[in-house]
Amino acid sequence: MKPSAPPLRPAFFFDRDDTLVRDAGYMSRPEQIELLPGAAEALAAARAAGWRLYLVTNQSGIGRGYYAMEDAEACNRRLEALLGVAFDGICIAPERPDEPSRYRKPSPAYVLERIAEDGLDPARCVVVGDKVSDLECGLAAGARAALVARGSAGEARPDAAAFAAARGVPVFPSAAAAVAAALAEKIRGAGE
Ligand SMILES: [Mg+2]
Repeated sequence: MKPSAPPLRPAFFFDRDDTLVRDAGYMSRPEQIELLPGAAEALAAARAAGWRLYLVTNQSGIGRGYYAMEDAEACNRRLEALLGVAFDGICIAPERPDEPSRYRKPSPAYVLERIAEDGLDPARCVVVGDKVSDLECGLAAGARAALVARGSAGEARPDAAAFAAARGVPVFPSAAAAVAAALAEKIRGAGE
């Protein structure tokens, strides 16, 4: 008898700055990393529920020469320590916006690769972020998207809120709230 394939898994793809941590602008030092409220508890709950957890972050400060890839990696290690979880994968896109890039959001390339290689269910993958580029990334991957209020401002970016309204993307006050809604299966992708 042919063994059945393992079930496809759900996953969150988190933006970093102003989604999981407060964005102080081109952060390069681990001590600058400050978790937004509820983030650690939300990710722990997601992992406990069987969701895979990824980090997808545009870091053009590297391409601009403000800091090095190693600095961004050190910040991410600090993030994982504060969260108390290790991500299943991390994608850092170092390019400037004017440079060609395989992975810089809104490119869906990283999400698509993980879906294909890690056995993820795209209908149960959620890209969580505070910018239009995060939402475009999720929708272009055939996944869901969730807009969160900017962690440093407490409200959604106006352009992202308009995009979300036009595309039927749900809006949440925080990443923690977006995770809670997804775990309760309240998030629906555009067109559903
Ligand atoms: Mg962001």
